[in-house]
Amino acid sequence: MKINQIEIKPGEEKKLEANIAKLPSRSSVDVTVYVARAKKVGPTLLLLGGMHGDEINGVEIIRRLVDRRWNIPSAGTTISIPILNVFGFIQFSRYVPDGKDVNRSFPGSKNGSLASRIAYFLRTEILPNVDYGIDFHTGGAERTNYPQIRGMMQNLTNLELAKAFHPPFILNANFRAKSLRQTAKKLGSQVLIYEGGESGRLDEFAIKCGMEGTLRVMRHLNMTDIAVSEAPYEHKFIVKSSWLRAPVSGMFIPSIKIGQLVEKKQQIGVISDPFGGYQKKLKAPHSGYIIGLNNNPVMHQGDAVVHIGWE
Ligand SMILES: [Zn+2]
Repeated sequence: MKINQIEIKPGEEKKLEANIAKLPSRSSVDVTVYVARAKKVGPTLLLLGGMHGDEINGVEIIRRLVDRRWNIPSAGTTISIPILNVFGFIQFSRYVPDGKDVNRSFPGSKNGSLASRIAYFLRTEILPNVDYGIDFHTGGAERTNYPQIRGMMQNLTNLELAKAFHPPFILNANFRAKSLRQTAKKLGSQVLIYEGGESGRLDEFAIKCGMEGTLRVMRHLNMTDIAVSEAPYEHKFIVKSSWLRAPVSGMFIPSIKIGQLVEKKQQIGVISDPFGGYQKKLKAPHSGYIIGLNNNPVMHQGDAVVHIGWE
């Protein structure tokens, strides 16, 4: 296996620094890649964090896996990239400094903008080596996601991997144009999205689900012997989901918790006029699970409030 012209042989472990760009200050911006190869032949698994720089639960999941050496495979290879978008990470931002989203910049280009260069690096140096991947995300802005795996579940390999991961929720998600998943599929690798928690916040439950799920996937692929405790929940398949939007503007106080089951017409919360003019009760339009929740208490009319998913 060769990444950035550096060869990694079976049985070797290497930490590579791949240069992506130079800042106007002349500082180099490098992406750190840990490659760990077993002597025994097996698949290559990519663990990718920080594609959106402010989505730090994935950074912490991969950091802990590497720190405990749980990324070291007994067969095959793991490629761990805790922070892909280092620009966003140091600025607490989803984006790179030119305002672009790396996950909408695939397949990328060598001489393109920063986001495009990061995508190009991943497509040309990393993805050709990868059989399976887990791309770790969180809800954007102040929205939190209950731990869930998203992918094209019509694909039996994806479905099998998602079940092996065993998150609380599994969602079918079609490809988005110019995304990593779409490009990976064209190159013959299967990438699943893990969503857990909120940007800019560490969420212990989401971190635990992410770490244990990764180990379960590695066990499923015969890449590790590390035992994982049984999860205290059954995974649920969400076949359809929709966001309930704020009918009025105001202060939102929820009366539900993320992850819980709600019945049709159950109260979700109240949006109140800050000047005491009205209190609007929000009711669930159908029964389902609260798989996403907006934690920003200041709601504009039309803002996404809760993401409800049907089993
Ligand atoms: Zn994201």
